Amino acid sequence: MTIVSRGANDAGARELSSPPDTSAPVPFFSQARSFDRLWPDLSARVEDVFDNGKFSHGKQVAELERRLCDYTGARYAIGVNSGTDALVLLLRAMGLRPGDEVVVPAYSFVSTASSVVLAGGRPVFADIDPVTYALDPAEVERVAGPRTRFVMPAHLFNQMADMSALSRVAARLGLGVLEDSAEAIGMRQLGVHAGLHGAGGVLSFFPTKVLGAMGDAGAVLTDDPRIAELVGGLRHHGRFGHTLDHFPGISTETALPGTNSKMDDIQAAVLLAKLPGLDEDIARRAALATAYRARLADVPGVLRLPEVVDRGPGSASVSYVFQIEVERRDELAARLAERGIGTETYYPVPLHRQPCFQTARPGAERLPNAEAAARRALALPLYPDLTLEQLEQVCAAVRAFYSGRR
Ligand SMILES: *Cc1c(COP(=O)(O)O)cnc(C)c1O
Repeated sequence: MTIVSRGANDAGARELSSPPDTSAPVPFFSQARSFDRLWPDLSARVEDVFDNGKFSHGKQVAELERRLCDYTGARYAIGVNSGTDALVLLLRAMGLRPGDEVVVPAYSFVSTASSVVLAGGRPVFADIDPVTYALDPAEVERVAGPRTRFVMPAHLFNQMADMSALSRVAARLGLGVLEDSAEAIGMRQLGVHAGLHGAGGVLSFFPTKVLGAMGDAGAVLTDDPRIAELVGGLRHHGRFGHTLDHFPGISTETALPGTNSKMDDIQAAVLLAKLPGLDEDIARRAALATAYRARLADVPGVLRLPEVVDRGPGSASVSYVFQIEVERRDELAARLAERGIGTETYYPVPLHRQPCFQTARPGAERLPNAEAAARRALALPLYPDLTLEQLEQVCAAVRAFYSGRR
């Protein structure tokens, strides 16, 4: 019995006008109800981990890496302990040198920029496109300077940055392209999965992501064998176990200082149990997003609903977060919280205003689209377990707030 598809059938069959149940809370995220669907495969895999006695970097991780290659089309997928470490290791594997600049969007999760600092580089902040929330290609031209070596867009919420335009700008400026595709499993542009449009990208399996573990996990995706090899060693204390041909002079076992960024096999087991249902989960998310759009289209106070830009054949969006822009955002969030409805603000402080990035090269202080999104955006609950009743409860509460009813 698959609880997710039971929910999907409900969405099709139920009276759309049934009065919302305003008593039960609607958490921002939950996967409790789909757990029983996972358990048979998951328990067998967990047992295998115990029998096997290899708790990280083991059989489950190796199998997950193969499955991720199958799913994304990457030549290499390297399992690590988080999306954040995946970004740091990818940047290190690219040979980032102290002082090297990386153009990143000013509106993203903090790791998009902190990974650059942790890898020894310097983030340069650029504005976003107000519709896609992703790095605006024209901005790269504006902020790039003589020390800029890479551009790293982040694909957020439901669609990718315009990778054709970004690749053209990067080529013109001689910059390498990396992708913070942490949120973007299942997203494709012109037939190419997110993370594979440049030298490499990452995935995050943080529990709330579209493919979430029951703890932290992440991966690096790349088609480049040298990047794969470097990330593979760096995640494991810098142990390569053999000579690195392409790094002349490096021959001892731990020639590069690595981190302990290995993925746990229990997390890989969770992800392997979930992966076969991923496309069904994505379809369920799309149906819920469509239902939200229909119910929120004419609500005064709602300034923007998610819009997906058509990027041509072979492109696919994924509704990770139902991000709306609203008037009086913080008041609305507080009212919804009073009614037991969870929301999130991604991201309340644009990165160029974060205290930890005040050493970043100035030149991008005026970033109006990032500032507006940070002020107005609110994410509503969206996950496969969410029922249509819960969704209607959320929409009714939003509508009531803007019509002045309690
Ligand atoms: C989640 C996320 C990350 C970090 O992933 P973790 O697994 O939580 O470390 C990085 N970038 C973006 C855009 C994310 O959404």
